[in-house]
Amino acid sequence: TAKVIDGKLVSNQIKDEVTAEIARMKNAIGIVPGLAVILVGSRKDSQTYVRNKKKACEVVGINSYEVNLPEDITEEEVVKHIASFNDDSAVHGILVQLPLPRHMKEENILNAVNIGKDVDGFHPLNIGCLAMQGRDPLFVPCTPKGCMELLHRYDIEIKGKRAVVIGRSNIVGMPVALLLQKENATVSMVHSYTKNPEEVTSQADIVISAAGVANLVRGSWIKPGAVVIDVGINPVDDAETPRGYRLVGDVCYEEACKVASAITPVPGGVGPMTIAMLLSNTLGSAKRIHNFN
Ligand code: NAD
Repeated sequence: TAKVIDGKLVSNQIKDEVTAEIARMKNAIGIVPGLAVILVGSRKDSQTYVRNKKKACEVVGINSYEVNLPEDITEEEVVKHIASFNDDSAVHGILVQLPLPRHMKEENILNAVNIGKDVDGFHPLNIGCLAMQGRDPLFVPCTPKGCMELLHRYDIEIKGKRAVVIGRSNIVGMPVALLLQKENATVSMVHSYTKNPEEVTSQADIVISAAGVANLVRGSWIKPGAVVIDVGINPVDDAETPRGYRLVGDVCYEEACKVASAITPVPGGVGPMTIAMLLSNTLGSAKRIHNFN
């Protein structure tokens, strides 16, 4: 059966490394990294994500600055808050929690973040650099970076391998495909219009699934010995749990375990890596701004 890729364990290692680096920087130059988090509206899931990010900052020693704005605020007002964080020297990273209310254009908001503080890596210039040969973005989006970090820390070879990415969203599928390509994998994309996704996926040495569809990827889709990174987080009804549901990935875990050589569980795989990468990006930003190595 497949080896389990333990995202919880790796994310804790990364948090320890970040904590030590922050202490070293504080001792050397007296600077503590700061992360500003902007939440618009009152979605319960977004509130939970923001709370978890703040808690993680506290654990590693990053100062966090939170702004909660009402659902009906104008785009201009949100941009003003971003602009003031752009100018604030205590802030090294700015994160706008997505999704935004419907009346706002995501592009207008994300464009307002100074690309040097864009720790989510969603600014079009950062994405553009990710796509270009010989260019490196200042920041790589956190979930895709977390997927790559898991492959690296488990010594999984990427160069020359066939990789299939399922899903092509701006926040996961597209950037993770670009990262795999940068590391010389041969990458195919599977999305909701792909004909015969099973046939395409079964060619892959590395499968990264970010479709958001429970049980999409069956054991029969996986080439024997392939490595499977399951980004999906999908609620499925389960009367036996107190909340009435549980979270599963896109991949039929039990089936895939029998064919894959290594696989990430859900929860405990990619999930915990996202926040670890946000902390690492925020530290990286403070180091870059203060020219500290
Ligand atoms: P999204 O809905 O924006 O994009 C989904 C993509 O999957 C689309 O490109 C679509 O074409 C493709 N798709 C949908 N149904 C498909 C199908 N049946 N076959 C093939 N492709 C299909 O979603 P997203 O924001 O990219 O998130 C994807 C999943 O990853 C979700 O379950 C989300 O909860 C999870 N996620 C996890 C983390 C994390 O681990 N920290 C972060 C972000 C997203």
